[in-house]
Amino acid sequence: MEATATPATRADQVDVCILGAGMAGLTLARQLLRRDPSLSIILLEHRQFPMPQAAHKVGESTVEIAAHYLAEQLDLKAHLRAEHLPKFGLRLFLRGDDPIAKDLAHYDELGVSEVLPIPTFQIDRGRLENHLATEVVGQGAEVRHGATVRKVDIDPGRHQVHVRCADQQSTIQARYLVDASGRRGWLRNQCQLARKARHANHAVWFRTDANFELDAWSDNAEWQGRCCGTARRLSTNHFTGPGYWLWLIPLASDCTSVGLVFDPAMVPTSEVNQHDKLLRWLSREHPLVAAQLVGHPPMDFHVLKDYAVGCKQVFSDQSWMLSGDAGVFADPFYSPGADFIAFANGYITELITGNGEAERWQQFQRYYLSFFSNTLSLYRGQYGGFGDRNLMVMKTLWDYTYYWGPLSQLFFSGRYLDTDFMEAQQPALLEAATLNSGMQSKFRTLATRQQRVGGQGRFFNHHKIPLFHRMKQALLCGASEEAGTQLCDAVETLRFLSADLQTLLQQLDEGADMPPLEEIGQWSVFA
Ligand SMILES: Cc1cc2nc3c(=O)[nH]c(=O)nc-3n(C[C@H](O)[C@H](O)[C@H](O)COP(=O)(O)OP(=O)(O)OC[C@H]3O[C@@H](n4cnc5c(N)ncnc54)[C@H](O)[C@@H]3O)c2cc1C
Repeated sequence: MEATATPATRADQVDVCILGAGMAGLTLARQLLRRDPSLSIILLEHRQFPMPQAAHKVGESTVEIAAHYLAEQLDLKAHLRAEHLPKFGLRLFLRGDDPIAKDLAHYDELGVSEVLPIPTFQIDRGRLENHLATEVVGQGAEVRHGATVRKVDIDPGRHQVHVRCADQQSTIQARYLVDASGRRGWLRNQCQLARKARHANHAVWFRTDANFELDAWSDNAEWQGRCCGTARRLSTNHFTGPGYWLWLIPLASDCTSVGLVFDPAMVPTSEVNQHDKLLRWLSREHPLVAAQLVGHPPMDFHVLKDYAVGCKQVFSDQSWMLSGDAGVFADPFYSPGADFIAFANGYITELITGNGEAERWQQFQRYYLSFFSNTLSLYRGQYGGFGDRNLMVMKTLWDYTYYWGPLSQLFFSGRYLDTDFMEAQQPALLEAATLNSGMQSKFRTLATRQQRVGGQGRFFNHHKIPLFHRMKQALLCGASEEAGTQLCDAVETLRFLSADLQTLLQQLDEGADMPPLEEIGQWSVFA
């Protein structure tokens, strides 16, 4: 791993000063310099490069928006392929009332049998940040590491950032100031921008040198043959129950990231906030998983309470902006964290380098915060339903259709930056948001039952849904000028699916069994 060089010159006047050289700060520097190589940029990073591999930060699983941003827009495809792992989608395992101790095939399984179009990745955060730091230095930025930001004076066009580095104080003057300091949230705290997310869940996680070959957790030949050619290990595997989900994410450094995300009203924090306690809890809930962890000590262990954070303002007319966790964060389920970095960095790049775009900060902020509140609605009050197979089948169908529909379309087509387009499409976007809010409220009601449904060895195969193939192909091939038509189609699809799911909900309430995925919904209408 290459160490990051710090240029000998210590410019104290720059165009852009970025607080924090994590994923948000480094990707932004790369994006800005690809757009305008003449910009002078300094990133101030409290830690020392090179960052450790494996046990560094969370945020290891990517989904389509983030993967497209990193691979295509930032041209990191070769690095992602060589240094990280290809992801085999999201996979959920659901047990019923009885814990399953012996055979993974007894769980119900939701996921794909084959990879859907659009590659996604399991990322080793240390490796990614080291690579990005080296790259942006090569592009001309300064990464000042071991440098702690101590004070920020906001003065539009001439911000002052006071830094301590190797016992020396210095002051940077910058035209633009971007806070990418993660949970430290410099500006969010200093300017009192935090807004309650009303989603008070917690997470614990650790990394281990264990390499979990899930395909070997059952001898059942039919089960082993379900996935064609790709190992289940490469999925973002989730074991769920009322109030929680547990992740297993493989890392290219031959380690596995393990984490539990939970609603403390259903899973007492005191039962899972240390590694040994977590294993004891896991041996009751998912003994099969717990057994695989025995003999593999943790490389680290972290507890994060109340991870969700909202923000009143993320961009401004005072030439400061927020990206990544320094702004907003909703929930790690579905891995949208890096997606929000991609959206924020896109807006910030326009605000800094665009032609007259600076005046559009309010519109950009309105779009960004509305993506955030829609995303937050997928989680709020819903953790009680995470052990209910029927609910999770319907929820994943809906949430994927929303994600690969309106949200991903706006990103892939680049139209999220086009204020004329966004304003013209407000009726369609509003309808999508209303349909989403209606479905999430139904899921929320079901979640209050806190049911455990699963453990029948059934497979709900998302690869069998033609709509998903079509939506992903459209993201890859859709022409930007067709974005309006595509958005209308996506909203119409949501309308149909909402009606179908409501009918199904009623049938399930009347005692029907959950049909196979391919029989839910009028897929032929969408094909
Ligand atoms: C439990 C959990 C699981 C998650 N899983 C996923 C996932 O699977 N996929 C996904 O996309 N997202 C995930 N996320 C979200 C993801 O972790 C974040 O979105 C992402 O790491 C944010 O990156 P960042 O650059 O904003 O912050 P960071 O990576 O934290 O970077 C901020 C940097 O600022 C530096 N810094 C802080 N204070 C100072 C200071 N005073 N001076 C100088 N430097 C400073 C820090 O050292 C740090 O390097 C998860 C989040 C949680 C809580």
